[in-house]
Parts: sequence; C-alpha cells; structure tokens
Amino acid sequence: MCNLPEDKCTGCGTCVASCPFKAISMKEDNEGFLYPYIDTSKCKKCGLCEKRCPVLKVKKYRKNDFSIYAAYTKNKSILLNSSSGGIFYELASNVISLGGIVYGVTYDKIKGAYHIPVDKIENLKNIMGSKYLQANASLVFPKIKEELTQGKTILFSGSPCQVAGLKDYLVKDYENLITIDFICTGVPSSKVFKEYIRYWENKYNDTFKTIDYRNKQDSWYNYKLKIEFEHKTRYENRFFSPLILLQYNHFSLRRSCYNCNFRKGNSPSDIELGDFWNVDLVNKEIYNKNGVSCVIIKSDKGAKLFNKILNNIKLTQVSEKDLLKVNKSYDNFCMDKEKRDNFFNEFINSTDRISIIKKYTNYSFKQKFRIKKNLLVLKLKNK
Ligand SMILES: Cc1cc2nc3c(=O)[nH]c(=O)nc-3n(C[C@H](O)[C@H](O)[C@H](O)COP(=O)(O)OP(=O)(O)OC[C@H]3O[C@@H](n4cnc5c(N)ncnc54)[C@H](O)[C@@H]3O)c2cc1C
Repeated sequence: MCNLPEDKCTGCGTCVASCPFKAISMKEDNEGFLYPYIDTSKCKKCGLCEKRCPVLKVKKYRKNDFSIYAAYTKNKSILLNSSSGGIFYELASNVISLGGIVYGVTYDKIKGAYHIPVDKIENLKNIMGSKYLQANASLVFPKIKEELTQGKTILFSGSPCQVAGLKDYLVKDYENLITIDFICTGVPSSKVFKEYIRYWENKYNDTFKTIDYRNKQDSWYNYKLKIEFEHKTRYENRFFSPLILLQYNHFSLRRSCYNCNFRKGNSPSDIELGDFWNVDLVNKEIYNKNGVSCVIIKSDKGAKLFNKILNNIKLTQVSEKDLLKVNKSYDNFCMDKEKRDNFFNEFINSTDRISIIKKYTNYSFKQKFRIKKNLLVLKLKNK
C-alpha cells in the first residue's frame, strides 16, 4: 500500500519507473486519472517507490528571483502551430540541431497523450502544442537515464510534477539534462474527454480521428478546439467548448492539482513556459495576435539555452508582478475541490453523462450575450 494519499498523488509515475521489481503500473481510476497500482505478489517492500516520490518529501525548489520575458517566435508558421508563442519549438530545434534529443508529449486516439523522443527537427510537430490530458511520462524515464549516461544532451518537456519526478528518479544532477515545464492549472480527466468525443461520434455517426486543442485560424485569443472525425471536422470556440469550460472552471481536473506544491515557479525546471494572455496590458509593443508565451528562466542552464535562440524570437523582459497581474494560474492558489467533487459524483453515477457535462457548462442567456459581445469587440479591434 502506498503511503501517499490519493488526493496528493500527481500521477507522475516516478514510483513506476523506480521499482526494481516492476511491481507498479499505472491504471486509470473511475474518474479517468492515472494512479499507481502495486502488484503485491511482485512487491518486495524495498521502499524505493516512496523514497523517490517527489510529493512525499515536499521541497522548496525556488531559490532565486527569475528572469521573466514575454516572447514569441518570428516564424509565423511555427507560431500558428504552437499553443502560445512557439518558444518550445525554438528551444527544442536548437537542442536537436546540436545533436540532442527532445522528449515531449504527442497524442493519438489509441494511447492518448504520452511522451516520445524526437531527434529530427521535422518531427517536432508531433510534440508541439498543448494536449489537455495527462501524459504517462514514466514510460520514458529509464530511456532518458540511459541516454544521459551515454552523454547525450536531453531536453525534457512536461508538467511541473513530471519534471520533479524525473529529477527524483535520476537522483543525481546531469549537466546534459535540460528541463522545461509549463504554468499549469491542472490536467483534465481522460474519461470526461472520451465521453464527450463518444457523444459526437454517435451524433455524427462518424469515427473520431484526432484533436487540435488550439486552432488559431481566427486568432490566438479566440482559438478553437478542432475535433477531426473521418468525414467531418468540428470547431468549438474556446468560450463555448464544454471540454475547455470544464477545465478552465476547474471542474474536471485531477484531485492533486487543487492544492499543488509546484506553482509560482516552485518546480525544479530550468525554463517554465506559459500563455501570456493580455500581454498588452503589461507591454503593448510585444502583443501578437497569433500568440505570446511567457518564458521564466530559472537556472543558468536555462539562460544558456534561451540565449541561443534570441535571434529567432521577439522578446521583452517583464517583472513577476506584471506576470501575476495577467496570469492567475501562475499564482499559488487553491481551487475549490468541493465543486469538482460534486461534478465527478454526478458524472460518474449518471447514465446520461453528456447531460452532466452540459449542466456544468451551461451559460445563461445574459452570459452568452456578454461573451458574444466581447468577441465582437475583439474582432473589431483585430485581436
Ligand atoms: C495540461 C496543460 C495545462 C496548462 N495550463 C496552463 C495555464 O493554466 N496557464 C498557462 O499560462 N499555461 C498553461 N499551459 C501551457 C501552455 O498551454 C503552453 O504549453 C505554453 O504556453 C507553451 O507554449 P509554446 O507555444 O511555447 O509551445 P508549445 O508548442 O505549445 O509546447 C507545448 C509543450 O508542452 C508539452 N505538452 C503538451 N501537452 C502536454 C501534457 N499533456 N503534459 C505534459 N507536457 C505537455 C509539449 O510536449 C511541448 O513541449 C498548460 C499546458 C498544458 C499541457
């Protein structure tokens, strides 16, 4: 039995990768989140899983002030295919061009979201863009260790808890490992996702192919969820998409995300990326209709890599106070667990789950009108 309470386990999978007896595997619970499952017939009670767990020993990772930038790539096609400012692509392609390997998250409908290695710039498209689902990172930890030991340069990109997990799995610091994470409110449930997709498959009598979580065909601010079926493509505006609303209103996230210890830069990554929504309230010059990332440089290693891409990006330095003004997820906050539990209780026990999703994402006529009016104003301002 694991000593970590279920509402603290982040599902980073460090215990799975660390177990010398292969006694632990990740299994999805009834809410659609991965938790470690211990096969007691294989477990020798060596305790390594708990020793390596990044949550059982709460750490204060943050030591210094950070350098923070608002930035975006000068390459428009990369910008349009990235979640915010395309900074991940610029960092990753630099590492690959110097012979390194980049680990990031891809998506396919069978395996969901998962980490893969990429060593060719043309394959970076497979790991660009946010997938709003939890990836099972632990599967690649042993391979990363092997490659680091061989002296290869590795860039690992994942959630803050996954980066903390990887570092605890590796135990020692590797000079050839660089890590990127992102400002993270939390990861949404894969069960809610699958249920939602199934609803549209039935409605269209079609088969789901893939999803793009941030289609910027109109603009970044007004991005769409693009859901592709064999014969049809569905676009959902971010302000009206049930999947996005459940996530943004904190209904469909993993339990541990409601009181996360890794917020406000408190993770061991070298660089943290995020969305710089409303950057024009902080600095009008750096605004770009197609997306702006915030880039938080947290270590010398991070600064060294970031300096190598300066010719490819536009940037301006900002203060942490400015970032906090416009990025609520960056702050250290607790979300309302009760409303989340109410949602999942109803969702799991219902025979008509889509009606529960609709119930929790319904707008009043007045709210709908206000959002549509705001969108029209933005369109007129060409935002
Ligand atoms: C689940 C999730 C929640 C997020 N929440 C916020 C938030 O609340 N506020 C905020 O400012 N930013 C958030 N972000 C970050 C934001 O969406 C962008 O990823 C970030 O701004 C970097 O964008 P980019 O254009 O530089 O690079 P992109 O090309 O968009 O790079 C995305 C990077 O994230 C990795 N990634 C994608 N999906 C996952 C996943 N499921 N798990 C782990 N790694 C993944 C990719 O491999 C890639 O390295 C979140 C991202 C995710 C995945």
